[in-house]
Amino acid sequence: MYTEDDFIMISALQHYVYCPRQCGLIHVDDVWQENLFTTRGNILHEKVDTDTYETRGNIKIVRGLRIHSFKYGIVGRCDVVEFHENKIEKSILPVEFKSGKPKEDLSDKVQLCAQVLCLEEMLSTKITEGAFFYEKIRRRNTVEIDNEIRKQTESIINSVREIISSKKIPLAEYAAKCRNCSLQPVCQPKAMNSRKLKIYIKGLYTS
Ligand code: SF4
Repeated sequence: MYTEDDFIMISALQHYVYCPRQCGLIHVDDVWQENLFTTRGNILHEKVDTDTYETRGNIKIVRGLRIHSFKYGIVGRCDVVEFHENKIEKSILPVEFKSGKPKEDLSDKVQLCAQVLCLEEMLSTKITEGAFFYEKIRRRNTVEIDNEIRKQTESIINSVREIISSKKIPLAEYAAKCRNCSLQPVCQPKAMNSRKLKIYIKGLYTS
């Protein structure tokens, strides 16, 4: 079990999946820069994270719920959690709002799974699904939270914890994703990718 002092942000898991170096720059060096993509996300979450709740028929809807897990040492916030209840069964569904379209990588799914791990611990229950609402295509996609994504999420939590506790920021690997990364001006991935510079930096950490 972890304590609050050990908690890492669920957002760090998404940053790690996108790029381990981005995760290190943000969560070790406290670097942050906005770009078009981060600004769109911020605007959407300002509309969604309202700390309110309402009831619609058999569904209680809670917005901006703060969540944590002492077992996994993670902390964050759910955009929306729906509590469904009828005469036969009860179920809980976290719903995450996204400004864009479904992503190819695991980052969003890992975020949703981490939310499920927190809610299961806090509410002593089992949750089998979560959902995304994509603003751009105005569509809700339901995602199964199976054993595979749970294992992947746990492994990513361990990798992020290793970066944060060692304070070692991974080296840049220039790739297509760097073009959309708000940290590119700070990271300088093309310059960092120069072979001589890589050898020099590696020497700094190993000497
Ligand atoms: S610019 Fe590229 S290498 Fe640097 S943090 Fe962003 S994604 Fe990672």
